[in-house]
Amino acid sequence: MSIRYSFELFPPRDEASAARVQAAVDAFVGLAPEFVSVTFGAGGSSTHHSLAVLQRLLDGGQSPMAHLTCVGLEVHETARLVRQFLDAGITKFLALRGDEPKDPAHRPRTTLSSAAELVQLIERVEKERVPYAEVPLPGLRSVALAERRAAVEIAVAAFPNGHPGSGIHRSDVDALLAKQAAGATMAITQLFFDPYDYVRFVELARTKGVTIPIVPGIVIPTSLRRLVRSAELAGEGLPQVLADRLEQASPADAVRIGVDAAVAQIAALEEAEAPSVHLYTFNDHRPAVEVLTRLGALTPAA
Ligand code: FAD
Repeated sequence: MSIRYSFELFPPRDEASAARVQAAVDAFVGLAPEFVSVTFGAGGSSTHHSLAVLQRLLDGGQSPMAHLTCVGLEVHETARLVRQFLDAGITKFLALRGDEPKDPAHRPRTTLSSAAELVQLIERVEKERVPYAEVPLPGLRSVALAERRAAVEIAVAAFPNGHPGSGIHRSDVDALLAKQAAGATMAITQLFFDPYDYVRFVELARTKGVTIPIVPGIVIPTSLRRLVRSAELAGEGLPQVLADRLEQASPADAVRIGVDAAVAQIAALEEAEAPSVHLYTFNDHRPAVEVLTRLGALTPAA
């Protein structure tokens, strides 16, 4: 059986990027990804645009995943956001702490300080939102069942090569355990370039008691710029051989090199029994579709 897949999109910032996002949504709606996730701007700055993309995915019959961050917001503001996303029909979340605001003057008085706390808040808001209800059992007078509702699924981030804030003690598996204990049902990793980084992290996580699926996050390095930017954002070292090849390539050859690199990485992860792969698309669906086609993994929507 070929590997399962999901995609990440950013909410658009302008008209040109809105057209790219729409093209990606149209392409993904015709496929059968596990989910499409939509990122969230720090402090709620992208709420409106994130919700608009999520709504288009819902309208296309997808069950999208909303990223949410909590730092920089008062707890009641985060709770209100969670309610807003639930009211829109979102049942899958990626709960993130987010990056601390640079200006300490903007630190809120009350705020959640970790993704583990946000996982708990999402669950609590979801439970409080829907009133308790019972379903009478046919033929049995005065016996009823509490109505079962579709619960939320909450993913969290994992860092195979360490979060930049984890320091020399490499507390990332501990952080992942805390998120699992809080109720997370899946982890998605930060990007990495060597499949062995993922394999080593998963092994360590399993020995320490992490049982939830750990889905590798994959960048398709279709240009030197993309490779350098992704490595910087993730705090990863630059894979020099790949960087040199991309630097010398024409734009069309660079796309081919990036697709080849991602195909090789995913094939190795499939071999290592990764449960699925999450493709960071940077709102360009074409290389993602090309990679999955090459792997024979594409499944059209039913
Ligand atoms: P946490 O896991 O809460 O903390 C980060 C690190 O702190 C941990 O890895 C660990 O080193 C340490 N730590 C925390 N709790 C513990 C503990 N209990 N014990 C030991 N150590 C601990 N940012 C956005 O703004 N918007 C997005 O949409 C977005 N999407 C992302 C998607 C993915 C898949 C990933 C990997 C990152 C994304 N980010 C996004 C970036 C993310 O917000 C930053 O990495 C942020 O600095 C940390 O968020 P977190 O949820 O990993 O935090």
